[in-house]
Amino acid sequence: MPRIDLHTHTTASDGSLSPTDLVQLAKQQGVAALAITDHDSVQGLPEAIAAGALTGVAIIPGIEISCLYEEIELHILGYFINQDDPRLKEALTHYVSSREDRNPKIIERLRQLDCDLSYDEVKDFAGSATVGRPHIAQILVRKGYVHSVAEAFDRYLADGAAAYVGRVLPSESDAIALIRDVGGVAVLAHPIYASRLNGPFHNLCSRLKSYGLIGLETIYSSHTVQQTDRFRSIAREHGLLITGGSDFHGASKPDILVGTGFGGLHVPADLLEPLQEFSFR
Ligand code: AMP
Ligand code: ZN
Ligand code: FE
Ligand code: FE
Repeated sequence: MPRIDLHTHTTASDGSLSPTDLVQLAKQQGVAALAITDHDSVQGLPEAIAAGALTGVAIIPGIEISCLYEEIELHILGYFINQDDPRLKEALTHYVSSREDRNPKIIERLRQLDCDLSYDEVKDFAGSATVGRPHIAQILVRKGYVHSVAEAFDRYLADGAAAYVGRVLPSESDAIALIRDVGGVAVLAHPIYASRLNGPFHNLCSRLKSYGLIGLETIYSSHTVQQTDRFRSIAREHGLLITGGSDFHGASKPDILVGTGFGGLHVPADLLEPLQEFSFR
């Protein structure tokens, strides 16, 4: 069964490869279909679709939207979205401005913690991308304040760490409604993060399903075999589709490769058709 990858980031958000380079790498890795799911951005989609047409990799237009569920940050993936829908553009403008409020505050806290960096430096580094914490993390590594992106998150940037600043996020129902409004299919990303933080994961699934969630990202780079099995049975119980992806970012998560994750990831191509069917409903 050919492999697919339904969760990847480009330079349109906090990935390090351009859409074209990512699609070419996916081709080399034997990935038959690739979803581009940048954080709060659809800017990478036109270039990815063009590169897909040249290389023969099927491109699924996607997005990853951060939202808040009972004070926990969840990420909802949207597939087969209409990237030109004005409601999407309008919502993304708000999400980007909430990041622009937050990022200088993170920098300010870092400066108070004796890390000498400026927001201009971060923006230069990110280029035209949606600035995210991984950009800040990479600057901290480059300047020698930490050894790795992981250490930057642990010490400074993760929720609860020394320089963490939250941002205004849409609710989980708003995020799912937006994806549905623009013709997309909503899937809960990396459920392991949600189940670790939350009490009853079943309640979360029921709630999200009632708002229109279609799938659960059961196959994921950092899921163990046991976790994958657990989410597979939870998906079945709740009538959710099984999906999967690597969450490839390139340089900020150098051990994760597109298509194969940490090496053992395999998302079978036959998971795609049921997902696509929902985009026609
Ligand atoms: P932001 O979009 O600025 O909220 O940053 C969120 C992104 O940071 C996530 O999608 C991950 O790519 C990355 N991230 C979050 N926590 C960690 C962590 N502990 N280590 C490495 N990367 C992380
Ligand atoms: Zn990311
Ligand atoms: Fe995510
Ligand atoms: Fe992601």
